[in-house]
Amino acid sequence: MRCLLPGAHLRTCLMLILWRTLRGPLLLLFLLAAACALLPLRSLAQYLATGSTGGGGCPETGVYHPENPFTSWPIAGGDWNHVTADYCDPAYLQQFGVIHRGIDLGYPLGTPVIAAGDAVVTRAEPLHPQRGNNVKACATNGWCALYMHLDQILVTVGQPLPVGLTLGTVGNTGNSTGPHLHFEVRDAGDSPVDPGPSLP
Ligand SMILES: [Zn+2]
Repeated sequence: MRCLLPGAHLRTCLMLILWRTLRGPLLLLFLLAAACALLPLRSLAQYLATGSTGGGGCPETGVYHPENPFTSWPIAGGDWNHVTADYCDPAYLQQFGVIHRGIDLGYPLGTPVIAAGDAVVTRAEPLHPQRGNNVKACATNGWCALYMHLDQILVTVGQPLPVGLTLGTVGNTGNSTGPHLHFEVRDAGDSPVDPGPSLP
């Protein structure tokens, strides 16, 4: 590109040279900006789909783990009709502003709560501010089940808890807005897992 003529033509010519020099880096900048704009959009889409932004939030929902030993409903005759809040329920997040890491089962006060799988009681804790009266029971493979907001605790730490054995009763203790059981499953690394796919 040569700019021989003076005046307006020279200005146009110089701008043309400038443009030709800069369009490469400008295109790169534009692509970078587009990528930056798309990343939060992807996070937003993930948030809307799972109620989580990932990274310590809500691990994947609906994933079946064959090593999960808690494969029975923690209430006799339990079923999905009694689930009032599912794992990572978006409605729960919207209402309470926290990720729901278990499933809630709505049953009347005093309904027996039974072990969802063979385990040993590792925690029988009264009146925790959030969990209320709660029981934690762990299987030999390190997976644990948590039963929260109980009215009564009927087991003690160290006690074997075979599947189906009554461990307490449905209550409204701790951070609870009505009688229900919060049932939670954690893997051997103490990360919450969706209990749903393992339930009948
Ligand atoms: Zn809950």
